[in-house]
Amino acid sequence: TPVLQLTDIHQVYGTGDAAVHALRGITLEIAQGDYVAIMGPSGSGKSTLMNLLGCLDVASSGTYLLAGSDVKTLDENQLARIRNRQVGFVFQSFNLVPRMSALGNVELPLVYARVPRAERRTRALDALDMVGLADRANHQPQELSGGQQQRVAIARALVASPTLVLADEPTGNLDSASTDEILAMFDLLARDGRTIVVITHEKHVADQAHRVITLSDGVIVSDRITANTPMAG
Ligand code: ADP
Ligand code: ADP
Repeated sequence: TPVLQLTDIHQVYGTGDAAVHALRGITLEIAQGDYVAIMGPSGSGKSTLMNLLGCLDVASSGTYLLAGSDVKTLDENQLARIRNRQVGFVFQSFNLVPRMSALGNVELPLVYARVPRAERRTRALDALDMVGLADRANHQPQELSGGQQQRVAIARALVASPTLVLADEPTGNLDSASTDEILAMFDLLARDGRTIVVITHEKHVADQAHRVITLSDGVIVSDRITANTPMAG
């Protein structure tokens, strides 16, 4: 059963002669444990689709069901809540809070979700352990390599057990060794049942996913399973 379901999604910016039709009829299902890359040239609609998937924006028309909720029926508060609880964001620039420990950074989504301190600590340590950084819990971001900082950001994205991990150019600031490390981590997490969507314009990054969706001019022009899919054995 799909955890994300988009039906005939259109996104239009502006009105009249100035209207830009950024997405033109996106229909798409993503299942639990899918590891999907969304590719396409600049201007093809990747950021627009990411903003919709992450509930940062609501489509002009069409239906988006995230974990069974119809996003267009939600008010601003409910959207903020669904972003906190259902989506874990990973960014190109890591977006860690400086001078706060790795553990403190990973705990943040649980602070917003009002999880008690002791439980926060345990869950954040578990998440750091999952990305292989339990021994760096008390290090600040500036004491970690770029690859390690991105792993902390992934732990932060996972800690509240979201429906979806949404990563925007997650390897854009990393060298090739750290890039491989992060992509291997997404592969493992997906095999363990997490649902991961990566937005990228880099083909070698997309090719490591289990499924690649290509956008052009606001429509899906290709949706294929890669050789890395667990179904390929
Ligand atoms: P990509 O991320 O693939 O580069 P975008 O989703 O940013 O594509 O853009 C898709 C189209 O929508 C482009 O034509 C872009 O100029 C336009 N667009 C994106 N955001 C806005 C906006 N806030 N206002 C007007 N046009 C926009
Ligand atoms: P990306 O680098 O991911 O392709 P863009 O450079 O297309 O992103 O867009 C960066 C930001 O500017 C996005 O938030 C997008 O919504 C906005 N944007 C893109 N095109 C336009 C536009 N024509 N008018 C206004 N905002 C835009």
